Amino acid sequence: MSTGTVRTIRHRIDGRDTAGQSARTAPVWNPATGEHQADVLLAEPADVDAAVRAARAALPGWADTSVIRRSRLMFAFRNLVEKHLDDLARLVSAEHGKVLDDARGELVRGLEVIDFACGIPHLLKGEYSDQVSTDVDLFTFRQPLGVCAGITPFNFPAMVPMWMHPIAIATGNTFVLKPSERDPSASNLVAELYAEAGLPDGVFNVVHGDKVAVDAILDHPDVAAVSFVGSTPIARYVHERASVAGKRVQALGGAKNHAVVLPDADLDHAADHLIAAGYGSSGQRCMAISVAVAVGDVAGPLVELMREKAQAIKVGPGLDAGSEMGPVVSPEALDRIRGYIASGVASGAALVVDGRELDIDGDGFFVGPTLLDHVTPEMDVYRDEIFGPVLVVVRVGSLAEAIDLINGNNLANGTAIFTSGGHAARLFQRSVQVGMIGVNVPVPVPMAFHSFGGWKESLFGAHHMHGPEGVAFYTRAKAVTTRWPEETEDGARDRGDLSFPTAV
Ligand code: NAD
Repeated sequence: MSTGTVRTIRHRIDGRDTAGQSARTAPVWNPATGEHQADVLLAEPADVDAAVRAARAALPGWADTSVIRRSRLMFAFRNLVEKHLDDLARLVSAEHGKVLDDARGELVRGLEVIDFACGIPHLLKGEYSDQVSTDVDLFTFRQPLGVCAGITPFNFPAMVPMWMHPIAIATGNTFVLKPSERDPSASNLVAELYAEAGLPDGVFNVVHGDKVAVDAILDHPDVAAVSFVGSTPIARYVHERASVAGKRVQALGGAKNHAVVLPDADLDHAADHLIAAGYGSSGQRCMAISVAVAVGDVAGPLVELMREKAQAIKVGPGLDAGSEMGPVVSPEALDRIRGYIASGVASGAALVVDGRELDIDGDGFFVGPTLLDHVTPEMDVYRDEIFGPVLVVVRVGSLAEAIDLINGNNLANGTAIFTSGGHAARLFQRSVQVGMIGVNVPVPVPMAFHSFGGWKESLFGAHHMHGPEGVAFYTRAKAVTTRWPEETEDGARDRGDLSFPTAV
């Protein structure tokens, strides 16, 4: 599949493009054609160390830059991202495979986090209490942590890093990003845009790599905090290893998102949204709906509507204007997804639409929308995160059964309910043990000024991403108690005593 010599994607350290000490590479595919379009360098620990040293050297100057100047820089960066939104979206589509409009959507959602970070003077105002005791005042303010690192997945190569670096940098930290090695190019353009916006060298660095680079980040004594997004086994590993090394960690993991359809739902509306949320980005979203839970007698008509709509989806190269769904990211992903379809059939599920039958010319990594009915909780296709365009239908008898099913699953990122009844919706939102919930909204990704995060094995650590929890994650509070006693003529003043101080 290689076409001879391909370009090499290099690191961005201290404002410079560099190969550092890296000799190993990984292929970057064009998923629509199967072409080996580039090689990305895989960092050695020395390269991670160079990036961390650059970030550490830039830290004192950046942390001391006034908050209003940091905010202005974010505005400049924001405008450049908006200006280059199409360039970024094209890079994402070319390496990830998702259709261009979907890539634009991810950029818009990333831009919203930068918008939020522009408001950093307001977010860092702190708190002040006057006269907490006689002549005593108390205030709290937040300071940056130091060098922060981000380790991100392939499925949102621009947006997920943007959940992290704008807030880390606006709050006065410096940053080392280790993006997915499968679609690395958008991160290098982001580094160029930061430089063009006037960000000092070393404040934002990009190191490409695999487990070797990740481990070097997790163990590096000068990295204060790690933000991770990816699959659950790696999230757990990152959380444990970085915590042992004394770092602050937030590690977001995988998902198996259920959408419950009640008999009182508008079935056509529900089916449209299940199809969009299940097959958008070829199911490679952490907020994709991968399980439709049909309650009572909706199952028959719902599956029939979904079959028609799934078969009508136009699958093709992401950069073709007519495509609604692109390929999956890699040959390995294609094999894994096809294997799960076979496993679903072998374990007794009914194959309503078979994506393996899709026939597209060339060597692209295509698998069509797939619908499996009569799936039960013991089957692999229910238990595992397939991360492809495979939607499974589980039939249950009641809302209570649907809630039990969801709460029995260890992955708890997002969920949705389709209903016209407020009482059922309220019961659902109060009862499910899941971090993000949609009511007649299938992909309930919170806006940037709220925080994003799942529960259970979808998130290890205490802080969700962006919004107020993002600001809290990238800063730590100081509480300062001050007394300015007045000198009296006779020199009398509060002398204190040996008992624990209480307010007077
Ligand atoms: P992944 O876990 O394979 O990779 C994520 C990152 O970890 C990459 O940067 C990768 O280089 C690195 N990595 C991979 N294997 C490693 C190892 N053994 N040791 C150390 N580092 C390693 O995930 P992916 O396939 O890139 O992305 C898809 C996954 O991400 C899905 O599970 C999806 O649900 C999840 N995801 C979750 C969220 C969320 O918000 N919870 C958002 C997006 C994606």
